[in-house]
Amino acid sequence: MPSPWIHPTERRACARCGFSVSNRRALVPRFCPECGQRLGPEPAKYPLPPRRRVDGAVSSLILGIFALCAPPLGGLFGLFAIMVGVGARKEIRAAHGRLTGGGFAMTGICLGFVGIISSIGFCGGL
Ligand SMILES: [Zn+2]
Repeated sequence: MPSPWIHPTERRACARCGFSVSNRRALVPRFCPECGQRLGPEPAKYPLPPRRRVDGAVSSLILGIFALCAPPLGGLFGLFAIMVGVGARKEIRAAHGRLTGGGFAMTGICLGFVGIISSIGFCGGL
C-alpha cells in the first residue's frame, strides 16, 4: 500500500504544452520553462508533515544501553527496552512514514535481549 504522506504532486504538467515540471526543488517554478505558460497554484505541501522521531525509540535505545551496563539489573532494563522498543516500532509502522526512529527502536530491542541474556548468564554464574 503506498504511503498517503508522499508528496501528492511531484510533477505538474503544463496546461499549454504538456511539459512536465518537477516540483521537487527548493523553489517550485511558477511558469513553464518550455513555453512560459503560468502554471497552476503551487502544490499544497501540508499533507506532508514534518517527520518526527518517536520518543519511545530513543528511550528504548537508552534502556538498551543501560541493559548492557549493570547485570543483573540490566535484565530489567532489557525487558523495558524491548517493551518500549516494540511499542515504538508499532507506532512507527502505523504512522506510514510520518514517524522515524525504527533503527533506534530495533537497536534498543536487540540490546535489551543481549542485556537479558547476559543477566541470565550472570545469575547462572553465581
Ligand atoms: Zn508549457
